[in-house]
Amino acid sequence: MGISDPTPDAPLDPPPGTATRRGLIAASGGLAAAGLVGGTAAEAAPGAPSPRGSWPSGPGRRNRPQEPGAELRAILREIDPRRIRRTIETLVSFGTRHTLSSQDDPRRGIGAARDWIEAELRRIATTSGGRMVVDVPSYVQQPASRIPTPTRISNVRATLHGGTDPDRVYVVSGHYDSRASDVMDAVSDAPGADDDASGVAVSLELARVMATRRPDATIVFLAVAGEEQGLYGSTFTAQQYRADGTDVQGMFTNDIVGASRGDDGSVDDRTVRLFAEGLRRPPTDDDLARLAVDGENDSPARELARFVGEVAGREVTGMDVQVVYRLDRYLRGGDHLSFLRAGYPAARFTEPAEDFAHQHQDVRVEDGRQYGDLVEFCDMDYIARVARVNGAALWSLATAPGTPRDVVVDTAALTNDTTLRWTRDPAATGYEVVWRPTTEPTWTHVIPVGAVSSATIDLSKDDVVFGVRALGAGGRRSPAAFPLPAR
Ligand SMILES: [Zn+2]
Repeated sequence: MGISDPTPDAPLDPPPGTATRRGLIAASGGLAAAGLVGGTAAEAAPGAPSPRGSWPSGPGRRNRPQEPGAELRAILREIDPRRIRRTIETLVSFGTRHTLSSQDDPRRGIGAARDWIEAELRRIATTSGGRMVVDVPSYVQQPASRIPTPTRISNVRATLHGGTDPDRVYVVSGHYDSRASDVMDAVSDAPGADDDASGVAVSLELARVMATRRPDATIVFLAVAGEEQGLYGSTFTAQQYRADGTDVQGMFTNDIVGASRGDDGSVDDRTVRLFAEGLRRPPTDDDLARLAVDGENDSPARELARFVGEVAGREVTGMDVQVVYRLDRYLRGGDHLSFLRAGYPAARFTEPAEDFAHQHQDVRVEDGRQYGDLVEFCDMDYIARVARVNGAALWSLATAPGTPRDVVVDTAALTNDTTLRWTRDPAATGYEVVWRPTTEPTWTHVIPVGAVSSATIDLSKDDVVFGVRALGAGGRRSPAAFPLPAR
């Protein structure tokens, strides 16, 4: 029935024959429910101690990374650092991509970059059998902060429509505008190789390797403008999605993902940071509801980040995904904020140790030191690994069911167990309840509960954090959803 996992191969799993009665108490609401309720179900999920032997012990097996399927492995193999180099070198060749630079010079300025990205995506889309559609959503930004005169802001977008669930959308983005030392300087060279041709290269490379494939959900490959002037391009597209009621279930911005050498000269080419906020400032109504039950560490953005950690780790991508429980670095921001403001889960990838001599700096040599955001400081193999992390996350999301909806925890009476309910998704083959001690950063335990819409677990909601995730073909899982108290 899918209640117990037959592969107890982990140190945390108890040896055979030690299954306790602690476990799933009941699951109901679906076709499988009748078989899951009662003693069989309770005994099928063995208890396991928490990590490091910490308290409390409880039901379920250890939560493990998700194995990549054959198609995802093929996608990751096809990601090519040589094409990434070509994208970055081409974008740098336009001299500056400042948002206030020329929009109609074919060789220099942001217009040349916009047109080249569009042409690349249109060429890629010809391989998609009509499933990938390219457009250039744009608007005229009236004078505002860092925008002195009315300025057209153009994003370049390739949308790969999903096969079975096209209304569910995941977005990967980089910004193609660049800047020099003076954020209003639209004339000086502003190569922007790392910030953020590297992120645009990730979007383009993933578009290339995914265009010929058929995800269930829709994937959007985006290059936005106006980031350095104030997140104008991403705000425009995120608000358009919001106004259209688009169901964006995850957005990643890749911004400054180009260099593996830090400002102290040390190299770390196996780490990428993923910044994910807890609460909006000021908090939204959803945030306040989570905060009321101390769920500030379980925002949709953080569940998305935990998901990336589970599907895109070192064994799969060659990269360690280091989630940072923070919106962004101090004094910095990025295009994920636009999507968060629009109410969507979003997070930011950035290299592990930035060298600020190579960001937002005029190209020059000073005291023998080279300043400027030049291609020579980019590590193409590193960027390819960042693309693999994004690819593993996006493909895993877009080939699994969506994040469970309407997940609630029953708090009508004082009990020492936990009843969770959610709305069943016909596309889901089953569900898993995940949990962790409140002091653990990531899910430690998983309890398969079958194709149901509720489950009662013999573990107190007072002591741990619960989540619910959906399962699809091949056991592919959705991000977890945090339950709010039922009203
Ligand atoms: Zn940037």
